[in-house]
Amino acid sequence: MFRTYTCGELRISDVNKQVTLTGWVQRSRKMGGMTFIDLRDRYGITQLVFNEESNAELCERANKLGREFVIQVTGTVNERFSKNANISTGEIEIIVSELNVLNASATPPFTIEDNTDGGDDIRMKYRYLDLRRNAVRSNLELRHKMTIEVRKYLDELGFLEVETPILIGSTPEGARDFVVPSRMNPGQFYALPQSPQLFKQLLMVSGFDRYFQIAKCFRDEDLRADRQPEFTQIDCEMSFVEQEDVISTFEGMAKHLFRTIRGIELTEPFKRMPWSEAMRLYGSDKPDIRFGMEFVELMDILKGHGFPVFDEAAYVGGICAEGAASYTRKQLDALTEFVKKPQIGAKGMVYARVEADGSVKSSVDKFYTQEVLQQMKEAFGAKPGDLILILSGPDAMKTRKQLNELRLEMGSQLGLRDKNTFACLWVVDFPLFEWDEEKQRFMAMHHPFTSPKPEDIHLLDSDTGAVRANAYDMVINGVEVGGGSIRIHDSQLQNKMFELLGFTPERAQEQFGFLMDAFKYGAPPHGGLAYGLDRWVSLFAGLDSIRDCIAFPKNNSGRDVMSDAPAALDPSQLEELNLIVDIKE
Ligand code: ASP
Repeated sequence: MFRTYTCGELRISDVNKQVTLTGWVQRSRKMGGMTFIDLRDRYGITQLVFNEESNAELCERANKLGREFVIQVTGTVNERFSKNANISTGEIEIIVSELNVLNASATPPFTIEDNTDGGDDIRMKYRYLDLRRNAVRSNLELRHKMTIEVRKYLDELGFLEVETPILIGSTPEGARDFVVPSRMNPGQFYALPQSPQLFKQLLMVSGFDRYFQIAKCFRDEDLRADRQPEFTQIDCEMSFVEQEDVISTFEGMAKHLFRTIRGIELTEPFKRMPWSEAMRLYGSDKPDIRFGMEFVELMDILKGHGFPVFDEAAYVGGICAEGAASYTRKQLDALTEFVKKPQIGAKGMVYARVEADGSVKSSVDKFYTQEVLQQMKEAFGAKPGDLILILSGPDAMKTRKQLNELRLEMGSQLGLRDKNTFACLWVVDFPLFEWDEEKQRFMAMHHPFTSPKPEDIHLLDSDTGAVRANAYDMVINGVEVGGGSIRIHDSQLQNKMFELLGFTPERAQEQFGFLMDAFKYGAPPHGGLAYGLDRWVSLFAGLDSIRDCIAFPKNNSGRDVMSDAPAALDPSQLEELNLIVDIKE
């Protein structure tokens, strides 16, 4: 037997036991005639003691052990003289009598400890070593627990886990596809699924009724902190349901996860907010409602007083940061710089302080009387000590988005975005379409299989942009953790949808013919949702990036720096695939 206990297991009650442990040498130190080694495995750290006086030869061998050597030791559990309350085995140590080196290790490129000296790049290159560290390992443990709880919850409700294919046809609607050349079908390509969407809908036609899959999905998009080219969805679909059924099933799952993973009992129903309200009050379809600071529109109050910036703007609106009137000129300048960053793109920012006597002092005082400024103060319900920040611009939607960034920044600066506070929200009533300026056509806001609200169907031709969808997103702390919709199950309505999205009947047939055909054979009413597993784990683990809950993630350029992928192909492979690489400089 290699080991009788793990390195996280022994306690004071085990004193005097004869034990055998295996693990990695985290560090060793010599003190007087003793050598102490921290032995580590997945479960914890146990202190080993080698005594020069009682066994000089063994101690000398211990002194030669380097960091990350894999060893096996046998010895006696002993009560520690100076206890370490920070680790679960901190009351004991092992007086070693036998040492067996199972494998040597090269000197690791960074220290494998909680506070490592390794930077991001080096840790990614040696990710298998990084994974030995508590921080990363515990995220994967959390991820495992979550998938177990997801399976338990869904199984209990009769959901069936079905795998759908990874090699599928390309559907260039939505994000860009990753494609895979087919050797056996020269000149033809598979795509990797952006989601199992079509297949799960087909499973409903097959009568599977309640499906789920913890599915790898692939999207060739520019990467951000909460995006990876491959990510995992908890993908679900149900038949004979309305929006309320889907929402209550998956709100139930969210509550189950909060309870079992975080020990948080959420008793209230989650808040609901129509998309239009989210945009109006927060300038975002995923508002962080851990704090208020809702937008107030100021067009009526501030336009027409001779301040050209506001007079010419389509939107003038602001937020009121409670108690932030003490912000210095320097802090306000920094906020102005923040909103002017190219990623945000505002032209400038106007601010106003509510003074102790209730009067308002603003950066545009010369254009406004105190009376008008007081009206503005009233509109916010601002009190002495509050700070009002205002943005304006020619495009209301863009300005709202800029104000959203400013609101989130102020929320962070004022400490209103605590990682251990959770604010859950359903955003509902999304528009069915959004206008794409570049392509000069409507695109599906969710995807082309989302159904319109029955009461809006008559607007499909006359006021396409105003049609609302049976679509819903779950948002927690400003993160979209999932979303879905009730689908179209009528082939005529589906054809109409394709037409509005600019598909010719031929192209629709070519790309989605199999779905349209399937719908001819008794498709039940159905709908579903997908939760982003990586985002849920990051949220529960309090991570800033989903990368830290993925064992082997890609970097910001979509590279796996450890295995060095992607890489060029061997000419013979290219030939076999009938591919010619022609890179334009
Ligand atoms: N397939 C959708 C997505 O990936 C989710 C859904 O509608 O079920 O966003």
